Amino acid sequence: MSDRLHAWVEIDLGALVRNARRIAARAGVPVLPMIKADAYGLGAVRVARALEIVHPWGYGVATVEEGAELRRAGITRPILLATPLLPVGIEAAHAARLTPGLGDPDVIEAWVAATGNAPWHLAIDTGMSRNGIRWDAVGEIGPLLRRAPPAGAYTHFLAAEADDASVASQTARFTAAVGALPARPPILHAENSAAVERLSGTSSWSLVRPGIVLYGVGTRERDIADGPEPVVALHARVVEVRTIRAGETVSYGGSFRAAGPMRIATVAAGYADGYRRAFSNVGQAIIQGRRTRVVGIVTMDMTMLDVSDVACAVGDVVTLLGTPPAEGRAAGRGVAAGIDIRAAARAAGLLPYEVLTGLRHRLRRVYLDPPPG
Ligand SMILES: *Cc1c(COP(=O)(O)O)cnc(C)c1O
Repeated sequence: MSDRLHAWVEIDLGALVRNARRIAARAGVPVLPMIKADAYGLGAVRVARALEIVHPWGYGVATVEEGAELRRAGITRPILLATPLLPVGIEAAHAARLTPGLGDPDVIEAWVAATGNAPWHLAIDTGMSRNGIRWDAVGEIGPLLRRAPPAGAYTHFLAAEADDASVASQTARFTAAVGALPARPPILHAENSAAVERLSGTSSWSLVRPGIVLYGVGTRERDIADGPEPVVALHARVVEVRTIRAGETVSYGGSFRAAGPMRIATVAAGYADGYRRAFSNVGQAIIQGRRTRVVGIVTMDMTMLDVSDVACAVGDVVTLLGTPPAEGRAAGRGVAAGIDIRAAARAAGLLPYEVLTGLRHRLRRVYLDPPPG
């Protein structure tokens, strides 16, 4: 299928499902997979359809249009809209049967008036200062909440991957805010990927909201063995191979200069595909089972690799991110590890979130289906 493609993103839906099962088992409650931003670039409809088998509570999106797309694709579970809804969007959100997370009293009033209190969740700000009603202000909207009780309430952690103290403080604030509501909403939630991965027992809440860990990027430094399976890979083909001499440079600006004779492979992916310019001179790649490195500046459509020690030819598949393709593994080329997206992002001064959501649509998405059952 990818025979004629110059560059593509491979998405292992079986690994996605196994990651979701592992997260649900760890948390002891259903998952609400966050599939906003087209499931971090993986394709929201394909991801949602694949995840149906784990019986998620619902799905999380950022825009009304993202939610409506899932409805058109036949998804019937609840869809949480996690970015504040503007009053002008209420009608469309209600028509798509979305469950908005609301925190602004005026918008809550408008939602309740327009929909007769269709399900919504109260967003509670416990320290992120981004959206939701402040944890210490929920008492002020008591009369409104008594008249129009929310179906759920939630908060969002600001540093669960790094900071024990902030998780404890935000949890205490959330608990206090929930206690100050006129009635305890039936559904409460807080944990993102990092918060689930750090849980020592099961979740105290009704469900968890993982995103990136489902897509194969763990949030912990240690416990690598317990981390998620890789899901996403970026592959591209070698389109030319050349030899250069000592002192010659590679790519724009001549930032890389050869110390001696070298072989350079030109690969058909660049920053217009989302293979970010920050990978210039620091990115790594797997080709023919060997690890190699990016030399010179990543250009819009092409990237150059040092293949001095690698027997490679035009047409070969290079893995720029993730695990080499199944054919390579099946052919016994002995690749022990791929390009870990978290480590690659860090080396380039990027977040793995930016790398995944930055993969552009010029790259065809090629899905590996999960094994049946
Ligand atoms: C994006 C998002 C998440 C998921 O975050 P990850 O770090 O990818 O797990 C959870 N909750 C909210 C409100 C979000 O916006």
